[in-house]
Amino acid sequence: DPSSSFRRALVVGCGHSGVAAAALLDAGGCEVRLFDQRADPVLPARLAGCPRFFGEPLAPDEAFEDLDVLVLSPGVPPGPWRERHRRLVPEAELHGELSLALAAIAAGWEGGATLPTVLITGTNGKSTVTALTGAMLAAGGLDPFIGGNLGVPLSERVLAVAEGRRARPGALVLECSSYQLETLRASPEAPTTTVAMVLNVSPDHLDRYASIDDYAETKARIFDGLDAHSLALLSAVDPFTPALRERVAPVAECLLVDGPEPPRLAEHDGALELRVGEFYRRELVALAGRHNAINALFALAAARHLGVPRDECERALTEFEALPHRMNPVAERGGVVYFDDSKATNVASVLAGLDGFERPFVLICGGRAKQGDDIGALREVLATQGRGLVAIGESADAFLAMAEGALPCVHAGDMHEAVRLASEMATRGDAVLLSPACASWDMYRSFVHRGEVFAEAIAALGSG
Ligand code: ADP
Repeated sequence: DPSSSFRRALVVGCGHSGVAAAALLDAGGCEVRLFDQRADPVLPARLAGCPRFFGEPLAPDEAFEDLDVLVLSPGVPPGPWRERHRRLVPEAELHGELSLALAAIAAGWEGGATLPTVLITGTNGKSTVTALTGAMLAAGGLDPFIGGNLGVPLSERVLAVAEGRRARPGALVLECSSYQLETLRASPEAPTTTVAMVLNVSPDHLDRYASIDDYAETKARIFDGLDAHSLALLSAVDPFTPALRERVAPVAECLLVDGPEPPRLAEHDGALELRVGEFYRRELVALAGRHNAINALFALAAARHLGVPRDECERALTEFEALPHRMNPVAERGGVVYFDDSKATNVASVLAGLDGFERPFVLICGGRAKQGDDIGALREVLATQGRGLVAIGESADAFLAMAEGALPCVHAGDMHEAVRLASEMATRGDAVLLSPACASWDMYRSFVHRGEVFAEAIAALGSG
């Protein structure tokens, strides 16, 4: 019984993860109440009979009556809910979907409290490192669950195991957004974390947090469950590392990636050095870019800590293919290569993609800008390597103003126009790069949708 300890739950937000949490609770015999701001969220049949509060900004007080668990979805601004929690049902547990699933595993599975668990966060690179770590653990025969913020919510797998549809995984590799970390350690009985990492911290999501320090502090929650067998991984070059490091329990091992001091993880002389004396050839990393070498080091350190043999790690590194919409070459027309980096939703990720990028490029950028992000940081690489800039979306004017005088700049009304204009600015040997430095919500359903429209627009150019 996955979560039989709860009798009455209110699940706030009926998106993918909220529905998964609700289904898990329902299967445990809990009375589940559902809330969503939208009037008509899509529900699976098993939740059809649940009491619901839809189409209102907040649930009425009656929704909180006799609750013993409140589950907040990552996308929901938590302030008003936490306030009601404190005032109306202070003794109820506060969870997110991920913490609920982890608690269910720790309490319900034999050995669940010690299931090898890798938690991954950071402003950029989470999905790549999650997939890469997962691939290494799979190569090592650990049969990991790979998901969390990426792919499938963990609750879905826990329920599938409870219902006999899936086997228990041998390890968990979990991508954690900062929103998920806000509620991660709400439950003291979550499994001990075996490896926890913060890849980097740069301005993002500052509409949600009072300051970047607050945002970094939320990321630091990832280290709360470490013990003497755990490994904490941090970036040696990130300005937030000293503050984050203070949150790592002194008993846990802590390694800095790319640091000057041993014990270390570093990249030099065309090799990746993992701890002192364990070297991996740089060419093993199938992904382009220095940031991906760093990502590989984080994944290697996690996999080696969990006992995956070296040659299995190497095999996984070599075979790993880039996730879509992250600096992927998607087409070539007239000697111009088109790269889809639609997932680059902030300035740091655009710069990482361009670090070591060899071709002159026309950049397509703009969209819903991230509060507190510094788009001026793009100007230098645009001035030195940029062939042109095509600005789209809400923030187009800000990008045009930023780049004015550095290179030719134009505005485009939509992606088709943007690709057409970019193709005219590029010459043989150049790249056209969709790397927006912005969220997609002003024009598209998601970064995936934006990347798909980019591909359609390239196809519409004709055979050129
Ligand atoms: P996340 O899941 O954190 O958004 P992804 O792996 O999906 O991370 O990559 C998102 C974007 O960030 C891509 O544009 C990618 O090129 C870039 N990126 C990947 N790894 C890093 C890194 N270590 N530092 C900075 N940018 C990165």
